[in-house]
Amino acid sequence: MARYTGAVCRLCRRDGTKLFLKGAKCFSEKCPVEKRNFPPGQHGQSRKVKKVVGYGLQLREKQKAKRIYFTLETQFRAYYQKASNKTGVTGELLLQQLETRLDNVIYRLGFAISRRQARQVVRHGHVQVNGRKVNIPSFQCKIGDEIAIREGSKALALLEEAKGFASGQNSVPWLDINRDGLSGKVIALPSRADINLPVNEQLIVELYSK
Ligand code: SF4
Repeated sequence: MARYTGAVCRLCRRDGTKLFLKGAKCFSEKCPVEKRNFPPGQHGQSRKVKKVVGYGLQLREKQKAKRIYFTLETQFRAYYQKASNKTGVTGELLLQQLETRLDNVIYRLGFAISRRQARQVVRHGHVQVNGRKVNIPSFQCKIGDEIAIREGSKALALLEEAKGFASGQNSVPWLDINRDGLSGKVIALPSRADINLPVNEQLIVELYSK
């Protein structure tokens, strides 16, 4: 599956908001959004800031969500289609699917310092779900799934770093986390209130439902 491999801080600066793509740096004063909050590029600083409205605003919200979860357009649209076919609030169902991707669950469990690193942890085969190895970052977790770092991978240095980082983060009510055992269980589906991200999902729904 293709993925974005460029500099991620540019994406935050383009949107003028923190998308939390880099782990600890995002919470420090080294974050480029704190230091240089203007669009990237040669003329970023001199460009007049235009008020974004209507279609432009809807597009920006979609881009933000795509970037936070590292998904590309085709896959993101498929998430929307699935959400719109279900009963319930489409925007919330869309975010719920993104939150329950295996790579995001690994990040929320505190086994990686960013979603990008979590994706790598999954990709490299360090994760098991219900006792079976799963290396697909977009694997959809459901209630009752038990997710764990595989026995042979528990000594990875990045897990130790992630543990320190996660201890300073908010709790995740929809996951039962055993940080010392490097495992966790999905005990509920995340509600909108559990997803503390700077995204207006209603604008994404408006964009796709045109
Ligand atoms: Fe970079 Fe994180 Fe700041 Fe975004 S929030 S600009 S990814 S350090």
